[in-house]
Amino acid sequence: NGAAEPPPRLVLDLERLSQVPSDKAGPLQRYAATIQSQRGDYNGKVLSIRQDDLRTLAVIYDQSPSVLTEQLISWGVLNPEARRAVDTTPG
Ligand code: C2E
Ligand code: C2E
Ligand code: C2E
Repeated sequence: NGAAEPPPRLVLDLERLSQVPSDKAGPLQRYAATIQSQRGDYNGKVLSIRQDDLRTLAVIYDQSPSVLTEQLISWGVLNPEARRAVDTTPG
């Protein structure tokens, strides 16, 4: 609906992520650590991830991408602009 905007950047706050109890955040903590390792990107306070990674994480968490996105935003781990990445209802 409306102007074609570029998809929002998905940016994880790694400091906040490390503070969320790992019984909740463990899978995301391991996923982010894997991306850091693959990139050799160890010193950042934030980590930009792929749109596809949000879909993969939704499968891991057994939730819809939109529900997972809200959860990560409520933890303070994901930037609120990320909502736009999942808001587009197909059809
Ligand atoms: P790859 O997907 O074959 O990407 C190879 C290289 O292409 C990357 O090396 C990076 O230099 C560049 N590249 C690919 N896609 C992008 C992109 O969207 N933005 C930018 N800025 N560069 C891109 P790099 O960073 O050393 O990553 C090595 C491998 O680690 C990647 O191989 C991929 O298999 C994995 N990886 C790294 N970051 C991510 C990520 O955020 N999500 C996923 N799913 N895999 C990642
Ligand atoms: P930005 O995307 O708004 O990122 C702002 C700052 O957040 C970056 O400053 C960097 O300190 C941090 N940051 C964002 N994503 C990551 C990440 O995955 N890992 C780490 N370690 N830090 C991250 P920086 O590096 O000075 O970059 C300034 C601007 O330059 C970025 O603003 C972006 O617009 C552009 N830029 C930097 N790297 C890339 C890239 O790989 N691809 C593209 N397209 N733009 C890039
Ligand atoms: P970015 O570097 O600004 O890339 C923006 C978008 O351009 C990516 O969104 C992707 O759709 C496309 N793109 C950029 N480089 C490549 C490439 O080498 N191959 C392909 N097939 N597409 C590319 P996406 O995938 O959602 O990634 C979002 C951001 O996550 C990237 O912004 C970058 O900051 C980070 N990122 C993703 N994958 C990698 C990676 O493999 N290595 C690194 N260093 N950063 C990555």
